[in-house]
Amino acid sequence: MHPYKAFTYCFIFLISLSACKSSEQFTGYSYDPPNVTDTRDKGIELQKRRVVGVDSPKVWISNEFSGARFTDFFMDSDSTYRLIIEPENEPINNSPWYAFKIWSDRPAMIPLTISYPDGRHRYQPKSILEKGENGLPYAFLPVLEDSSSGDALIYIPVGRNKRIVSAQPLQTSEMIRNELIKRNILGPSFTKIDTIGYSKQGRPLIELTITENSGSEKKPVLVILSRQHPPEVTGYLGALSALKALTADEPMARQFRETFVIKAYPMVNPDGVDNGHWRHNAGGVDLNRDWQYFNQPETAAIRNAITSFMDEGDYRMIYAIDYHSTDENIFYPILSDIKTTPDNITQQWIPLITEEYPDIVFNIEEFDTNSPISKNWFYHTYGVDALTYEIDDRMPTAVLDEVSYRAMHHLMDLLLKNWVEISSE
Ligand SMILES: [Zn+2]
Repeated sequence: MHPYKAFTYCFIFLISLSACKSSEQFTGYSYDPPNVTDTRDKGIELQKRRVVGVDSPKVWISNEFSGARFTDFFMDSDSTYRLIIEPENEPINNSPWYAFKIWSDRPAMIPLTISYPDGRHRYQPKSILEKGENGLPYAFLPVLEDSSSGDALIYIPVGRNKRIVSAQPLQTSEMIRNELIKRNILGPSFTKIDTIGYSKQGRPLIELTITENSGSEKKPVLVILSRQHPPEVTGYLGALSALKALTADEPMARQFRETFVIKAYPMVNPDGVDNGHWRHNAGGVDLNRDWQYFNQPETAAIRNAITSFMDEGDYRMIYAIDYHSTDENIFYPILSDIKTTPDNITQQWIPLITEEYPDIVFNIEEFDTNSPISKNWFYHTYGVDALTYEIDDRMPTAVLDEVSYRAMHHLMDLLLKNWVEISSE
């Protein structure tokens, strides 16, 4: 998601008229394209998967892998190489994802201009050799941005070893099991993994259930969502770090699991991720505008999994977090004067994070509950507080890992205390 600026102005204006009704028709945030809340299939242009070679000696480029995206590759008259990146469909938000492999018959440093006919450059390129560089992490490639065209000029070292260049580190749907095992989220007997449905293109939608509460009393439930929007990798990695905290072999996490049931859907849009989409699923729809009508199979499957679980047993929904990325760290809680039970969890939580990390900027912007996004569905369905948790696109992985882990540590403490109060009522 992007900042909600125009909507905020509207909101402040409406407050001054004391007339911000939650019943007013929501048609989209300031950065949304027209018609975003019509979530019926819009269709997408399938990417042509291929290997292209230009020049002599040849420079080769490929999008024949999961997460890849480019539309065309050719040489300009001034001997720079040009890469065209187009989205899955449009209109669309400016989250121009790209990923490609590049190599050449002779070692060289090549100038490459990335052009976005439907957008402007946003993500600094990350690069890694396909066969690994002695375990080195992704390197950031410097960029010269053309402010008038929105193009980006980068220089890439090429040679016979294939190099992956992408908008963010690749984190595709096939990689998720290994990522969960690596963090010891999957492996312990208290984590169960299920397929609760399939995406439009038939990829499994996975659900994690984490609990050590085998009692017969009413059980509180925490839900975690991420990757509704494919390029939002920092939010996804933050969700994985939160899950790592929830499954840790530590007293707080054990106590939390002995009380709560955690339901997690860490890869809501696997088709969009694997096809290198800018924003949408394979139906050409922004999934985080589909939490009212559930026209898309991904949102419908997750809604059905949650409601049938909640209906089947003695459970009580307590809180839900939907992890995203944008150009800043920002929390979008539900307005504090909207009553939820428990109330103002997010407003209680944020000071605990900012106190531990005073040097990191976290912004907060509260919102009404009238948009068809996931957190509002939790509010309207269960009367609970919920949060859109946005992590800065540029936040280094090691930092976001630690902060998201510690943030979840504080939340476990807070939710346990709130549960003691609620369950004794
Ligand atoms: Zn998002």
